Amino acid sequence: MSDEGERLTELAKRRGFFLQSAGAYGGVSGFYTYGPQGAALKDNVEDAWRDRYVTREGHMEISAPDVMPEAVFEASGHLDGFDDMIIECPECGESHRADHLVEDNTDIEEAESVSTEEIAELIAEHDLVCPSCGTGLAGEPVDDFNLMFETNIGPGSSSPGYLRPETAQGIFVEFPQLAEYARNQLPFGVAQIGKAYRNEISPRKSLIRVREFTQAELEHFIDPETDEPPLERVEDVTVPLYSAKQQESEDGDVQELTIREAVDEGIIGDEWVAFYLGLSKAWYERIGVDMDRFRYRQHLSGELAHYAADCWDAESELGGDWVEITGFAYRGDYDLKKHAEHSGEDYTVFKQYDEPVTVERPTVDPDMSVLGPEFGGAAGAIGSELESLVERNPDAFDSDAVTVEVDGEEYTVDIEATGYSVEEVTESGEHIRPHVVEPSFGVGRLVYTVLAHAHTTDEVDGEERSYLSLPPEVAPTTVGVFPLMDKDGLGERAREVASDLRAAGLEVTYDDSGAIGRRYRRQDEVGTPFCVTIDYETQEDGTVTVRERDTTAQQRVAVDDLAETLTALRDGDLTFDEL
Ligand code: AMP
Repeated sequence: MSDEGERLTELAKRRGFFLQSAGAYGGVSGFYTYGPQGAALKDNVEDAWRDRYVTREGHMEISAPDVMPEAVFEASGHLDGFDDMIIECPECGESHRADHLVEDNTDIEEAESVSTEEIAELIAEHDLVCPSCGTGLAGEPVDDFNLMFETNIGPGSSSPGYLRPETAQGIFVEFPQLAEYARNQLPFGVAQIGKAYRNEISPRKSLIRVREFTQAELEHFIDPETDEPPLERVEDVTVPLYSAKQQESEDGDVQELTIREAVDEGIIGDEWVAFYLGLSKAWYERIGVDMDRFRYRQHLSGELAHYAADCWDAESELGGDWVEITGFAYRGDYDLKKHAEHSGEDYTVFKQYDEPVTVERPTVDPDMSVLGPEFGGAAGAIGSELESLVERNPDAFDSDAVTVEVDGEEYTVDIEATGYSVEEVTESGEHIRPHVVEPSFGVGRLVYTVLAHAHTTDEVDGEERSYLSLPPEVAPTTVGVFPLMDKDGLGERAREVASDLRAAGLEVTYDDSGAIGRRYRRQDEVGTPFCVTIDYETQEDGTVTVRERDTTAQQRVAVDDLAETLTALRDGDLTFDEL
């Protein structure tokens, strides 16, 4: 682990941000418990996400189950294809992620898109060894390992279920009902914040690669023919883009471009994706991601899921590595199509035309009095096949006879007997399958990034100080309340102040132990942006000291105005300088 990672893990455990779960039993890799500070920070990040991507955009939010039946993942493709490459050490039996071994020990980046055979060859070629025991791995097989956790629904094993590997499928599978809630009006967005589970081969780097994590996903359903994103809202936003082209060129680098420039120059291939990259930049800043340690990286062509037209990751720099914190993908109609095919249900919306239109529609009306005697038992199936053929390929009816295939056998039907004609029909609308744009955020990685980027040290009163420069909106605690000393009624007064601030909806910590300087340091270390001290002056003039974390500047504020002032400071309606 990097120095930054070690420092953060130590702080996280000591001060209650996060710790490996079930430590009493030796701990279990890839599972973390958020402590009081971490849970509060994570809640605040989720609230800020909900505010940005649901409330302010007018989208819907749902909450689907963590366990879903096999059929869902058969349709989504996860059962067959949600694999990572695994290699097992013949000596110690430890399993490793084969592509990561290659990435960690060679110049090759993004080895995930390379085939298992090639990875095995690379392992042999570079003489890679087991990271646990040092045994050579050349010649060991590299296999696909499915990342889903399997379970049984109910007793027995007849009904397998899986813990969802992404929250998205819970949205896609309910699309027909969700479209009704949206009154079949595209575009509409459905969001979900919830747990996702992946049985990672080698969980690592603390919260960054775990087996249970929270995702915040938005599925924005659009009509690909007519819906355009409100690009004007973000076109002037400058974003750090590391395009596929730059990654592939030898001295390629991140380019700072406005969203408009990136779209006009064809660097971002899809306008909806561009919209979300533009919208999200300010949000990352809002929750405390350091913009000097942030970039958007485009997927290389080999990395792209086969259905995705364009895909970018938001990445943050952590301990010297770039880590994906969000994936932005244009998924087309892949997911809805798959669920329609597998379930037989209707995954379209009915799009009403402004005015009814008259169209020519080729139809058939097979003459069973001819087909029956001629084809016997196959006549019914031949009739159905003619009906489907006229929809698929009306040109096939442009001759004297039409040939169809039923159960591997060909039948030729005289054009007269097909009842082929072209009718004029008036249509009020059509069924279309929406496309989907998906920003998918990993909440744990956001929390980790925000903590790592907020960690700062400076010198105060000749002593080194370590603090978390968290934005007040996401800090676990907004205010620390201290009596100068717990005597002469100061403690009582301070407890009263703390209780009033809590009643006003602020997150408050009360602390009366140790010297005041130590109490400040304790709050600095967990990122509390404001501390309030009740002293003898409070008893005289009803004012308290409010101290700001980063600058350690202090101001006196009347107790009567305290809740209002601190709320305004937390919500960004007032800066400490303006006080
Ligand atoms: P993906 O579906 O793989 O694009 O993942 C979407 C987001 O989930 C990523 O951007 C990550 O932030 C997060 N994520 C994926 N896998 C993990 C993991 N094993 N541990 C923590 N976060 C993850």
